[in-house]
Amino acid sequence: MDPDRRRRVESWLRYSEDLGLGPYYRNRASSPCAPPVITAPAQNPEIAAPKRAPAPAPPALRLTPSISTSPAMKPAAPAPSLFEIVDRVQNDSLDRIREDLGDCTRCRLHKGRTKIVFGVGNPQAELMFVGEGPGHDEDVQGEPFVGRAGKLLTQMIEAMGLRREDVYIANVVKCRPPDNRLPEKDEIAVCSPFLMRQIDVIRPKVICCLGSCAAQTLLATAQGISRFRGEWFDFRGAKLIPTYHPAYLLRNPAAKSDVWKDLQKVMAHLGLQPKRR
Ligand code: SF4
Repeated sequence: MDPDRRRRVESWLRYSEDLGLGPYYRNRASSPCAPPVITAPAQNPEIAAPKRAPAPAPPALRLTPSISTSPAMKPAAPAPSLFEIVDRVQNDSLDRIREDLGDCTRCRLHKGRTKIVFGVGNPQAELMFVGEGPGHDEDVQGEPFVGRAGKLLTQMIEAMGLRREDVYIANVVKCRPPDNRLPEKDEIAVCSPFLMRQIDVIRPKVICCLGSCAAQTLLATAQGISRFRGEWFDFRGAKLIPTYHPAYLLRNPAAKSDVWKDLQKVMAHLGLQPKRR
């Protein structure tokens, strides 16, 4: 197994241990080139055991745009992503996810945080926004997108004819990275399964990824967001569209028109009317 895949599987196994799953056994009958086959005894009936041998290409992670037409992109990471082997948790809920998260110390980001920023909004939202991680204001208040970039996001949501409380907002990692740096790969690998569970519970029709980190994480690609911004993808039963992060728009106001085009696609898909002035 290559080191990157080994690290992902190890992170997932640690996460499963936290859920009370395991022990796990390698199915040595499988091909050495195939993804690891993980089996688990059904110890806890409330928690779904991971499925055997993930299918070769689950539809959730197509990197070919699913609605609009554009040149097909080659996935930068051809290996199955972490999320192909993260199974859904039966009878899951946002309360249970928060409870499982607890006073989390699973990665180094816990050392500098003030508050865990779990997520906020309508638990039955049709539209979910996903950013990269909390900043200073979010860390202090425990709520995502409440600083300057957050205010801009709220304006964007209202321009779509929605209120902030109509949508759900979460991040790839739930603790603030120091000095507002991007989350590291290992931090994302440990924390993002909780985001996957939030997505599975909320079951939005549309996920709008804000910025490269969120888009690259969910689509398991290393390509820059400008290559696929505004394209539609299938992701865990939802339509996913990547666009620029509001913080980028604060630095580059000219990009607002691109983002508005992306949001108009979302509005058309959800049948929303723009806010009347
Ligand atoms: Fe836990 Fe996520 Fe915070 Fe890391 S970022 S300590 S995994 S809640």
